[in-house]
Amino acid sequence: MKPARTFSVALIVAALFPAAATAQGIQYDKIEIKTEKIAPNLYMLSGSENVDPGHPDGAGGRIGVLAGPDGIFMVDSQYLQIGDKVLAAIRRIDPGPIRFLVNTHVHPDHTAGNATFAKAGAVLLAREELREGLARQTAADPARLPVITYGMGDPVKFRMNGEVVELIPVRAAHTGGDTMIRFVNADAIMVGDFYRNFGYPFIDTNNGGSLKGALEALELTMKIAGPNTRLIPGHGTFINRTDIIPYRDMILAVQTKVQQLIGQGKTLQEVLAAKVTSPYDAKVPGGLLPAGNAGTSADRFVSMVYAQLKDGH
Ligand SMILES: [Zn+2]
Repeated sequence: MKPARTFSVALIVAALFPAAATAQGIQYDKIEIKTEKIAPNLYMLSGSENVDPGHPDGAGGRIGVLAGPDGIFMVDSQYLQIGDKVLAAIRRIDPGPIRFLVNTHVHPDHTAGNATFAKAGAVLLAREELREGLARQTAADPARLPVITYGMGDPVKFRMNGEVVELIPVRAAHTGGDTMIRFVNADAIMVGDFYRNFGYPFIDTNNGGSLKGALEALELTMKIAGPNTRLIPGHGTFINRTDIIPYRDMILAVQTKVQQLIGQGKTLQEVLAAKVTSPYDAKVPGGLLPAGNAGTSADRFVSMVYAQLKDGH
């Protein structure tokens, strides 16, 4: 059964994402940066579809740009290889100095371009845990490392360009060093990757993420967001707080099911074979597509839930 299933998923990938189906990795030269204005001085930048196998819905992680007379405040930095394209997209918005760059989390689709913007004059900020994670990649350019770090206390606030920007630390969720970035006047929050609407939740426990923390982060987001607040994930489409409810409920239902199977003494292979996500598979775009070495996105998610529950998290 297993080979047949793998084969059918491969066929679906080939049909839906012909460019991404080849094993050549990210096609940096094909990435174009799209700019979306979401408030008078707040812009979201994202990469092209179907050129990044890990993110067929849009290459790399989304970038936020707050522009105006006080200089530019950036959220995340995309891949290093497309720094010139991101810089050009920012210059089309505003020619002013790039003063600050904050990272939502450590993953390279959000941080690999940091050095480009540090060298363009930006002061880099992030959680202490994020800096530690980046510092472990010893071969990379030291200019990518955050200069200012903060912990789990009250939000760090910036007042620039008529906006109040809050850096809201999130306890171990998608990774161990997540931050949400709230633009108070624009009524928008960039939430990073603990919520996603392409593929099943990805909680990176190797980088300090946790299932419990991700659930807490979803609750926190629903609490601080107003009814019209635009929630902007690192990938995929914008949502509002009511969209988090079915997402959270899906995680809780899968958690309950996996806990039952663990109680019956099932192994990880048996839990994966039970296809506990099947009630949701039709509603989760990309849910059955390959996700790294862990099989499908659903398999990666269920394996994470299993490991977290087994470890008593
Ligand atoms: Zn990401």
